[in-house]
Amino acid sequence: MPVEALIAAAREFLGDRITTNAALREHHSHGQDTQPPVMPDAVAFIETTDEACRLMALCHAERVPVVPWGAGTSLEGHVTPIRGGITLDLSRMNRVLDVSQPDMDCRVEAGVTQEQLNIHLRDLGLFFPVDPGTSVCTIGGMSATRASGTNAVRYGTMRDNVMGLTVVMADGRLIRTGGRVRKSASGYDLTRLFVGSEGTLGVITEIQLRLHGIPEAVSSATCQFRTLRDAVETVIAILQMGIPVARMELLDEVQMAACIAYSKLEGLDALPTLFFEFHGTPAGAAEQAGQAEEIALGFDGLGFAWATEAAARAKLWQARHDAYWAALAWKPGHQGIATDAIVPISRMNEAILGAKEDIAASGLTAPIVGHVGDGNFHTVIMVPPEPDGLARAWELDKKIVARALALGGSCSGEHGVGIGKREFLEQEHGAEAMAVMRAVKQALDPRGVMNPGKIFMN
Ligand SMILES: Cc1cc2nc3c(=O)[nH]c(=O)nc-3n(C[C@H](O)[C@H](O)[C@H](O)COP(=O)(O)OP(=O)(O)OC[C@H]3O[C@@H](n4cnc5c(N)ncnc54)[C@H](O)[C@@H]3O)c2cc1C
Repeated sequence: MPVEALIAAAREFLGDRITTNAALREHHSHGQDTQPPVMPDAVAFIETTDEACRLMALCHAERVPVVPWGAGTSLEGHVTPIRGGITLDLSRMNRVLDVSQPDMDCRVEAGVTQEQLNIHLRDLGLFFPVDPGTSVCTIGGMSATRASGTNAVRYGTMRDNVMGLTVVMADGRLIRTGGRVRKSASGYDLTRLFVGSEGTLGVITEIQLRLHGIPEAVSSATCQFRTLRDAVETVIAILQMGIPVARMELLDEVQMAACIAYSKLEGLDALPTLFFEFHGTPAGAAEQAGQAEEIALGFDGLGFAWATEAAARAKLWQARHDAYWAALAWKPGHQGIATDAIVPISRMNEAILGAKEDIAASGLTAPIVGHVGDGNFHTVIMVPPEPDGLARAWELDKKIVARALALGGSCSGEHGVGIGKREFLEQEHGAEAMAVMRAVKQALDPRGVMNPGKIFMN
């Protein structure tokens, strides 16, 4: 059946929610990345799990590729339909289905956004902590990329906060994984298999999530340093002391200059800076903050500046979340490539200071901003609008990844593989582990219809 006939067949149950409209196909031709865009043949806006089952059965039967889509905020070409086919947009599956206050969990449809969920939970005294730099991303997309954010050092990533899933398999069958219990030793952990599978194994339509109580006391502070090394040594010492910081983020002097200008931050200089947040009882949060400040001063930190009012805290963390946009505004006409290396905590200074040397040698501008509490840092490589700009940027990206791998790290702490990181996987995991991953893909998606060309080189 040619793809036009498949679209006509899908129209019988989707009506005009499957469309070949050029503007909508263009919108779904890329994510937030520098990969060349490719238009899908059609975009299907599904509203129920049953519609996903019917569409997948059809695409599987006709061997037509399917690319699941949440909000298209991924950074590695994940959503580009490089082999055409249907983009399956889940953004209209956006209902919060159930919230249990006593069990501190909830069930949501895949298209619920991070921001929408937290607005829904606020009055219940609960929150969902995983907070990528953009709040418009969907819980389905965050599950599929195994996303994290500034709170991961205390509350974990999607890997830790997804308890169970409803998944439409490549051939249209429906399964439920996991459940609502805090632990289970019953069978293979299919939930963890689908979390991070980037739409290559199935379509996630519902997610059971662990929630957390909004802490009684929250305090935020910044601490500036004269050197990047001192800032990173402070982070390592805080982690090794076991101080349960909720957030601990590093911005180098270039990123600080960009953020000060973009977010109109006052009282801060363009110096390496740590952003902290402490959660707990008033006494507990104050104790953590005191211990962290003492360590920072021991590494020549220039003192803690407190953001105590809710509005000041919000401004500070919004500035951190806007770091990518601040970098783009800092260098007008440039594109951005965000590296995502992660290393064991004790190797962070080698990784970050090494990256600084690579950046200097490249002649490119690349602010560093990172979830250093996890050993994860991004360099936002500014791609100059020159013929060899992209090639130079990718060369720098490769050097940073190579060093992270040599230090026992990973090419991606949270953004995922998509197209951009495929070439590093074999080096990171080894040929035998890659063969096992391929065997899993082959078993679950024997016709290769689920987001083909992602994670694996071919
Ligand atoms: C400014 C900025 C800052 C960012 N900061 C962070 C950060 O701090 N931490 C972080 O982790 N990420 C960050 N990201 C990346 C991004 O937000 C995540 O990758 C996000 O998790 C993707 O969600 P989405 O809904 O946009 O998914 P999409 O981009 O639409 O899809 C991502 C991948 O998941 C698949 N997918 C989507 N929905 C489903 C589904 N329901 N079932 C199966 N597969 C699906 C897609 O096929 C694709 O492979 C940032 C991005 C931007 C633009």
